Amino acid sequence: RAKQSGRNRYSFFTAELEARSARTLHIANALRRALEREQFALHYQPQLDTHTKAVIGAEALIRWYHPELGQVSPAEFIPIAESTGLIIGIGDWVMRTAAQDMRRWLDMGITLRTVSVNLSPLQFQHHHLPEQVARNLAHARLPAKHLMLELTESAAVDDPAAAIAMLDRLNRQGVRIALDDFGTGYSSLSYLKRFQIHKLKIDQSFVRDLEQDANDRAIIVAIIHIAKALGMDTLAEGVESEAQLDFLQAQGCNFVQGYLFSRPLPAPQFEALLLACTPAS
Ligand code: C2E
Ligand code: MG
Ligand code: MG
Ligand code: MG
Repeated sequence: RAKQSGRNRYSFFTAELEARSARTLHIANALRRALEREQFALHYQPQLDTHTKAVIGAEALIRWYHPELGQVSPAEFIPIAESTGLIIGIGDWVMRTAAQDMRRWLDMGITLRTVSVNLSPLQFQHHHLPEQVARNLAHARLPAKHLMLELTESAAVDDPAAAIAMLDRLNRQGVRIALDDFGTGYSSLSYLKRFQIHKLKIDQSFVRDLEQDANDRAIIVAIIHIAKALGMDTLAEGVESEAQLDFLQAQGCNFVQGYLFSRPLPAPQFEALLLACTPAS
């Protein structure tokens, strides 16, 4: 497939957008105003060490409450933000806010290793991403090692050479990289070997039915082995039961995240949870 320039890509998506529903157009317009008015919030979901059960990180998940539309799921509005290009501005707000929150937690004595932000493919393919990362880290006075960027396979497979170059720039800055929803995209193992990535996030679709489905268990075990062989950590998403946790722990999955431990929480509640389990020093 021929590579499209940013501009062509933009007009292509705009045409596609126009063909879609009135709700999509309403959301696209409302998103533009929401960004100006800072109507978004971040919720944070704890990520735990499978063995010690210590909270080692938090994933920032965007929330949007619109006066008329009510709560709109990111699963609905992020693709619209992506197709209109608004994700660049929204993503910048997410990164800036998450870095500031992480700085505050460290200053409060809450010891987390990383705060994770989700990057959409358009953000990852934007050649100014490293400058954006540097600016947001400097603004929050946050060392790069405390920021984890979560990308999906689709962000990387479009143009593997460009993805490798971008990962190299980000790695040299010292930020961490996780591959989100691993196993659901199209990336081949030959790319995985060439991508400098720190963590594979095992998609929740494999975790959900693992107790009943031997194939899901086999896939999870294989992912953990591949990650180990390539020197990457694994994190299982969507962990909801003790039985799932027991299996993941027995198989050597490093980290877990899911409703079993906590739903994504507004920053003040996340802080309260962390302060309650941080030993006073
Ligand atoms: P994701 O990054 O794979 O995030 C995981 C999703 O699973 C989140 O949904 C989270 O709330 C949900 N989840 C966590 N634990 C459990 C569990 O135990 N069971 C179940 N059933 N679900 C669980 P959410 O917050 O609705 O986000 C959906 C997707 O929207 C995210 O998937 C991510 O792709 C995207 N997204 C969210 N925030 C952002 C953002 O700031 N920027 C970008 N580019 N994308 C975002
Ligand atoms: Mg994610
Ligand atoms: Mg995911
Ligand atoms: Mg997802």
